[in-house]
Amino acid sequence: AVKADGRSGFRIFQHEMELATRARHAVESDLRGALANGEFELHYQPIVDPATGNAVSCEALLRWKHPVAGYIPPSEFIPVAEDTGLILQLGEWVLHEACQEARHWPQDVSVAVNLSPRQFSEPQLAFQVVRALERSGLPPQRLELEITESVTLGATQKVVETISNLRRLGVRLSLDDFGTGYSSLSYLRKYAFDKLKIDRSFVTDLSKTAESIAIIRAIIGMGRSIGMVIVVEGVETEAQLATLREEGCDLVQGYYFSRPVPSQGIRAMLAAPGTLSKLAS
Ligand code: C2E
Ligand code: MG
Ligand code: MG
Ligand code: MG
Repeated sequence: AVKADGRSGFRIFQHEMELATRARHAVESDLRGALANGEFELHYQPIVDPATGNAVSCEALLRWKHPVAGYIPPSEFIPVAEDTGLILQLGEWVLHEACQEARHWPQDVSVAVNLSPRQFSEPQLAFQVVRALERSGLPPQRLELEITESVTLGATQKVVETISNLRRLGVRLSLDDFGTGYSSLSYLRKYAFDKLKIDRSFVTDLSKTAESIAIIRAIIGMGRSIGMVIVVEGVETEAQLATLREEGCDLVQGYYFSRPVPSQGIRAMLAAPGTLSKLAS
């Protein structure tokens, strides 16, 4: 905010604003360059059936492999890509790359792709999805789209249409980061999501408080009652896994099984599923 100490304070404030704007432009042009130079990579993390230890799908997670800084996590550049609209091109690249990669996996393993809120306000999203499926030859049933809870909250007619267009294509929809927003049961029913991904924050406390177990139990019960598959993300310990299994959680994802790994790593893991089942049993 504008500081109270008169003109000099205001100038300082303006100067800071200019720097922030310039920095944002710099990041934006870096991102464009990175896309052109092929500096983006997808890493993949298995989503596991705790009963069998088999991966049923893998989530694609975007990384920027910066020639000097090394791997940069999405939290550092996705917000800028969203602000500038570059997320639309970047998102299209992610869709193509993820669908192509999944063609190298066993046929019963799907790929999950994250979509940004901004992508939902663009009518071209459904076309991008169709193109990615056609070019890769991946059956629509093997593509899952993850949407964070905040998207459905501000749901405009456009968003509702986009979601139903995507459903008609036969792709699956997951509600990501569940519990961080304010979705009600009626929202969940309205959009008919296939999967509910309970946010990592609920798992962190799992071993510490009885309340956290009660919350997870309630979410699982609620999601189940309207026919959704329940995924819990952020599982890091055997104790957490044991609790989640007791509570009847359908699928789990987290460092306990594997961190997100590059393409060669996930292919090796999927070709030798024994590694994951050992952890599950
Ligand atoms: P998300 O979709 O909720 O993805 C899960 C995040 O939790 C990932 O962080 C993953 O690496 C991390 N994670 C998984 N298991 C564990 C665990 O056991 N412990 C801990 N501490 N963390 C775990 P990441 O890769 O940094 O991605 C962060 C967010 O960036 C994602 O959250 C997603 O919202 C966004 N994102 C990633 N890739 C894309 C993309 O291609 N497009 C868009 N629009 N957003 C993306
Ligand atoms: Mg996700
Ligand atoms: Mg998530
Ligand atoms: Mg999350």
